[in-house]
Amino acid sequence: MLRVPREDFIPSHYRDYAYMEVPLPIPGRNATISCPHSYPLFYEALNLDRGDKFLEVGAGSGYGAALAREIVGSEGYVVTVEIDPETYRFAKENLYKLGYTDIEIVLGDGSYGYPAKAPYDKICITASCRRIPEPLIRQLKPNGRLITPMGPPNSEQDLVLLVKGSDGELKISYIDKVLYVPLRGPYGY
Ligand code: SAH
Repeated sequence: MLRVPREDFIPSHYRDYAYMEVPLPIPGRNATISCPHSYPLFYEALNLDRGDKFLEVGAGSGYGAALAREIVGSEGYVVTVEIDPETYRFAKENLYKLGYTDIEIVLGDGSYGYPAKAPYDKICITASCRRIPEPLIRQLKPNGRLITPMGPPNSEQDLVLLVKGSDGELKISYIDKVLYVPLRGPYGY
């Protein structure tokens, strides 16, 4: 987090608030950059580590993808999918300006994942779903982990962690209460 300048992922009129513990609006419908502490909350539970192949659903500002890139290092890989074309352009510009040209940024519905680079070690959904999208579970490696907020918009949601066993068995645990924008599409709201 010390390496990635959060202020460069925020529209200029909100830059002064870059390090406050609040989500901030970014271009697009319903898009925000999440509050700072949510990134370690998600990535520590995921056990995101050097060499991981990582998929993010909801690129938003691009900040989460940049942090992930710093963690997985050059042996790892980061793909981020964004459904809103205006937000997608914002993420892409931010990441390119800062030199994160090796992050793959995809425009589309991330609840279907990104089969071209599957399977993934870790998957992070940064919008609140109704149920965990099955395509994402399929695109997770054995011993892989997926984290997502679950629950309706505008009320506290459960942050849940799904761990896929080496035999494909799924275990879900509760991490914390969070407040995220709704996931769009058939698995969201
Ligand atoms: N991770 C982002 C914050 C994301 S906010 C960051 O670090 O800034 C949630 C984002 O999810 C919004 O940009 C929203 O447009 C996007 N989104 C919602 N539903 C989606 C879907 N089905 N597929 C991909 N992106 C989606």
